[in-house]
Amino acid sequence: MTTATEVSVRARIADEIRRRQRFVLSSHVRPDGDAIGSQLAMAFALWQLGKEVRLVNHDAPPTPMMVFPGVPKIEVSSHVEDPGDAVIVMECGELSRTGVEGFERGFVINIDHHLGNTGYGTLNWFDTSAAACGEMVFDLVRELGVQLTPEIATHVYIAILTDTGSFHYSNISPQTFDICRQCVEAGIDPPAIAGAIYDSNSLGRLKLFGAVLSKMELDASGHVATVYVDQKLATECGGTYEDTEGIVNLPLTVKEIEAVAFFKEAGPDDWRVSMRSKGEVDVNAIAKQFGGGGHKNASGCNARGTFEDLKLLFQRLLLEQIEAARARPT
Ligand code: AMP
Ligand code: MN
Repeated sequence: MTTATEVSVRARIADEIRRRQRFVLSSHVRPDGDAIGSQLAMAFALWQLGKEVRLVNHDAPPTPMMVFPGVPKIEVSSHVEDPGDAVIVMECGELSRTGVEGFERGFVINIDHHLGNTGYGTLNWFDTSAAACGEMVFDLVRELGVQLTPEIATHVYIAILTDTGSFHYSNISPQTFDICRQCVEAGIDPPAIAGAIYDSNSLGRLKLFGAVLSKMELDASGHVATVYVDQKLATECGGTYEDTEGIVNLPLTVKEIEAVAFFKEAGPDDWRVSMRSKGEVDVNAIAKQFGGGGHKNASGCNARGTFEDLKLLFQRLLLEQIEAARARPT
């Protein structure tokens, strides 16, 4: 639901955009489809208005995204000297999520849909009811009176398709489908987009999926799954860490599994933890305890310790959340 306050902040953002010329657009470290889609949809809208745009991210886009319009223009850097007339940060609950230094000196426009956004911008617009940040960018593009070109529509659709887990998650609203309908009318090719994102695996990636899933463990309840990847496993399969993107979602395709934690070795006794859940099971509550964040059904954080210790800890924490969800009145 869009509130009157949100409409006025969006109008204010549109005004500030109209009166400025040079923009830097950024999103979070290890950008996903919503990060890239939101950024590029915004960039194409600004280019249509005759603005100068730089796209700066801390990490390179996922390889499959490179085929989409404008994505190779993204600069990879952890520092900007010149924050332009405005920095538009999308998909980031905190400014530090960009991993890029130098934005703090600029006029920052914060557009996001994560729970607990800290309001770090000069202008802040967050809407946790949006299924993807790309939905908000779509509304802003409309507010700016920009024509919905196939480029903009493609990126909005990428943002929504990926951030809803291919239309699996909650937060999908009538608005989500209305935006997608307008994107299709604007000339996008949904099967080609889905094919480029989901059906462009390398063989190494598929083998790595197999290896990781063959080591999947269930807790005693049978509702919590844990999976992991370390450098050794990745190398043995001829895959890379980037190839593990998406694995975390697979255990939830098992009917009884309600929550999953995926551990990726980042260094000695240092793990990056991705969590996913079904329905009312809140993994964001756990991620927050470790200084991470995200959404109720998809969150991430870092944790230190041995894999065995962390596995037991997260199994317990996830089961607690499953039990808390069952106990909550619906
Ligand atoms: P991931 O498991 O990396 O795919 O992330 C799932 C969701 O949690 C995404 O919306 C991320 O933006 C968010 N997220 C992941 N890690 C963090 C973190 N350390 N801090 C805040 N949000 C995060
Ligand atoms: Mn998102």
